[in-house]
Amino acid sequence: MARYTGAVCKLCRREGEKLFLKGDRCYTGKCALTRRNFAPGQHGQARKKRSEYGTQLREKQKAKRYYCVLEGQFAHYFELAEKRKGVTGENLLVILESRLDNIVYRLGFAMSRPEARQLVRHGHFEVNGKKVNIPSYLCKAGDVIALKDGSRSSAKFKAILEANASKPIPKWLTLDVEKLEGKIVAMPERDDIDLPIEEHHIVELYSK
Ligand code: SF4
Repeated sequence: MARYTGAVCKLCRREGEKLFLKGDRCYTGKCALTRRNFAPGQHGQARKKRSEYGTQLREKQKAKRYYCVLEGQFAHYFELAEKRKGVTGENLLVILESRLDNIVYRLGFAMSRPEARQLVRHGHFEVNGKKVNIPSYLCKAGDVIALKDGSRSSAKFKAILEANASKPIPKWLTLDVEKLEGKIVAMPERDDIDLPIEEHHIVELYSK
């Protein structure tokens, strides 16, 4: 499946916010946004008044980039969100949160969402005892996400889990460090999703 292969720090600079796409580096002084907090390109430092459409577009781009989702798939998630009962914007965020790569990241099995995506693609995880290597796989409440047997002794995962030991796990997930498996206790509510996304702008954009 297609994915963005350009310089990811440019995406943060474009949005003017940390999207945490590079793991550890994002928390250090080496973060590109700390050093160059302006949009990339020739006119990146120009002051521009943002139109209503511009605001809506940026919010959609930001959400897409947080979750490493391309345009077509994001639009598909929006359609799914519209069909579900409840508030469309909140439904959209819940769908994005339920992607397997996001859950792997939230459980601390990866340092960033792009890394989680790659680890899932490489077949390191099982959902309810079956290998799943599709990052966009949508998990549901009650699902158990575990490291595959062959990956449990890997030095890479040991290092990742150690580095993430103090990282809080969202309350809608549980992690059993001994068994190297996590469980979705319940799907998240809007308040459980800590990303600075104003989803109503996205709904307005797609409603035009
Ligand atoms: Fe974004 Fe991380 Fe790059 Fe900083 S280091 S600009 S947060 S991807």
